[in-house]
Amino acid sequence: MHSKYSQSVAQLRGLELYWKTRRLLKKSQGWNHDESSQYQFIQLRNMLQHCANNVPYYRKLFRATGFAPARMRYASELAGLPTLEKEIVRSQTVDLLAENIPRSSWNYYTTGGTMGKPLGLYGLKGGGWRERAFIETMWDRVGFRPTRLRAILKGSVVRSKRRWTYSLSEHAFIFSNFHMKPEIVATYAAVMKKWHIPFLHTYPSAALEFARILSESGISPPRFEAILLGSENLYPGQRAQIEAFFGCRTLSWYGHSENTVLAGGCEVSLNYHVQPEYGFVEILKDDGRPATREGEEGELVGTTLFNPVMPLVRYRTGDWAVIGPGSCPCGRPYQLLTETRGRWLQEMLIGKFFNRISITALNMHSAIFDNVRQFQFYQSEIGKTELRLIPKHTYTQRDSEAILTAFGEKMGDSMDVQLKLVEQLQLTERGKFRFIIQNLPQTSNTQAD
Ligand SMILES: [Zn+2]
Repeated sequence: MHSKYSQSVAQLRGLELYWKTRRLLKKSQGWNHDESSQYQFIQLRNMLQHCANNVPYYRKLFRATGFAPARMRYASELAGLPTLEKEIVRSQTVDLLAENIPRSSWNYYTTGGTMGKPLGLYGLKGGGWRERAFIETMWDRVGFRPTRLRAILKGSVVRSKRRWTYSLSEHAFIFSNFHMKPEIVATYAAVMKKWHIPFLHTYPSAALEFARILSESGISPPRFEAILLGSENLYPGQRAQIEAFFGCRTLSWYGHSENTVLAGGCEVSLNYHVQPEYGFVEILKDDGRPATREGEEGELVGTTLFNPVMPLVRYRTGDWAVIGPGSCPCGRPYQLLTETRGRWLQEMLIGKFFNRISITALNMHSAIFDNVRQFQFYQSEIGKTELRLIPKHTYTQRDSEAILTAFGEKMGDSMDVQLKLVEQLQLTERGKFRFIIQNLPQTSNTQAD
């Protein structure tokens, strides 16, 4: 099975899937709202019928709830089914697998995982090509083409001493973001300039760290056409800072390894455009009802149109979004979100009363952090957090007092805050930065095996 021949067959099939998806997406972005919803509804109903026929978990569920995909007339009828918790995906993995797809076509992978616990999932072999077609179609909006070079600075481990390499399959230069010392970063910039690399593909935190070191070393930034920002939350202040320093625009998107929701920016607005060909997306408020009006917010709940091997239906992502305006000046027929945020638990401190304190509510752009280079909350106990700071040389005891007072005002007596000055902050195992590192005892909604 692992012969050169079967490898090239797989490669060809992958490319075929890639281009087929690209053609679909090129066409579908020109559809009107009705055409787009109609297409999505048919895909959704087909996927649900596949679930009814071939996936034991749904066979039982549909029978118990009297849900029949064949009788479905509106996508909204999906709301008659319960949502799917991560916990069920973890504990009933086998029942969620389609019986009619041979094992040899399965691809096992794990998500990054919150709380340090990865989630194991199965997709279709070669599905990565389809994912790539979706992502690159979004990048097209800022001039990307598969033939154009990009610099990747995100979570890759580069073993060579110089900490960068060229990848033929990605047609990209890969730089390690785990080794961003000034002398190494200087060589990164030189390589990017030498090859006139037009796109930087990175995480917001890595882009900012890169900018900071270049700026402190007095090195002018490479000239990119656009910076492609994925995988982490992008806060408004961060976008402005990155665009100002590099003098180019950014394009950001929201996606996750479970493959139920994909939403990306466009060339004329900051809205995230939900891809209806990828998944059927609902935004559910705390009371479980759908958020529908502009400005309303809730949890992203997605149904895959992407993965028939382990189809997730009404999957609770644990991520959160705000509904955007009804249409975008770009004219694409997609639902818009103004904000997306990953992983509730990673972005919310848990107070003494089990109250959630959002990281955005803590206003990290305030002047109290003027003498702080970077900070991160560490929480291992409900109602207590350690705020870890990398101080600038101008930092004094006064700053500590101001920070503690400000947080005291915001969080009241629901949280005890302790400051700790450090030299380095923790990255996740995939090299991402998170504002909150949580290591809380398991609560019922995160309990696993
Ligand atoms: Zn748009």
